[in-house]
Amino acid sequence: MTGSSRRSLVTRRALVTGGSSGIGACVAELLARDGCDVAVLDLELPGSDGPGGGVPGRIRSQGREVLTLQGDVRDSVWVRSAVDSMVEKWGGVDILVNCAGIFRDQVIWKMDDQQWHDVIDVDLSGVFHCCKAVAPVMRAAGWGCIVNISSINGMRGKFGQTNYSAAKAGVIGLTKALARELARSDVTVNAVAPGLIETPILESMTEVAREAAVSEILLGRPGRVEDVGEMVAFLCGDRARFITGEVIRVDGGQYI
Ligand code: NAP
Repeated sequence: MTGSSRRSLVTRRALVTGGSSGIGACVAELLARDGCDVAVLDLELPGSDGPGGGVPGRIRSQGREVLTLQGDVRDSVWVRSAVDSMVEKWGGVDILVNCAGIFRDQVIWKMDDQQWHDVIDVDLSGVFHCCKAVAPVMRAAGWGCIVNISSINGMRGKFGQTNYSAAKAGVIGLTKALARELARSDVTVNAVAPGLIETPILESMTEVAREAAVSEILLGRPGRVEDVGEMVAFLCGDRARFITGEVIRVDGGQYI
């Protein structure tokens, strides 16, 4: 019996960073739909007073367990303790999806050190901290799945985003290196690179910048969170067990 068919007999335990908003919230709900118990990690705990009880309520309504972990992916000590608490409660971590992210756009000649470090610390070091915390757990189990959310701007570079493009390119390098390191433990590691997706992160974008971005998209519209979430859910499922070290764009043709 292969590792994947063995695991499919039990409920998987997924950890989703940035899981209270946007793409992360959608991923958390889709993984619950697909049979996972889900730990939602975010700076702010997902409210239970939103429609349907918020993200935790919508996970529970699918008959799955939920764990909320409020904290900061920049803090490696806290991340390790959050993973420990998940292992204590559920016995392991089978799936990690790194969605937590920010941007602080500015051309490099106006970008201050804080804007650079803020983005690198969350978007790249945060991914490192979470991958590092779950790697021993997945190695010991001999099974796992990690999906890191990068961006097409990490592949092409974007004006005004030296910090974000560098961080997201770094995520792609980290993903490929980690795929090599964890393959012999039957842990797959992949990246998804979205284009423009309708989420709260876009609220700070100017109308001009938004129109310029939409004009690049072959399919003529921004993506929906489900467009990205379904790809992540696929990569976390049994049908994707022979895919690792891959970067998959979900961008309506924005990159080409
Ligand atoms: P979002 O709705 O703002 O979600 C990001 C989540 O990450 C928020 O809940 C945010 O919390 C959380 N977060 C930020 N800093 C954190 C930290 N230090 N520790 C823990 N959580 C933190 O944005 P999104 O669009 O869904 O973004 C999800 C991922 O997709 C990000 O990595 C983003 O770079 C990437 N992406 C998005 C797009 C797009 O067009 N939307 C395109 C390409 C890639 P707060 O809200 O409290 O800050």
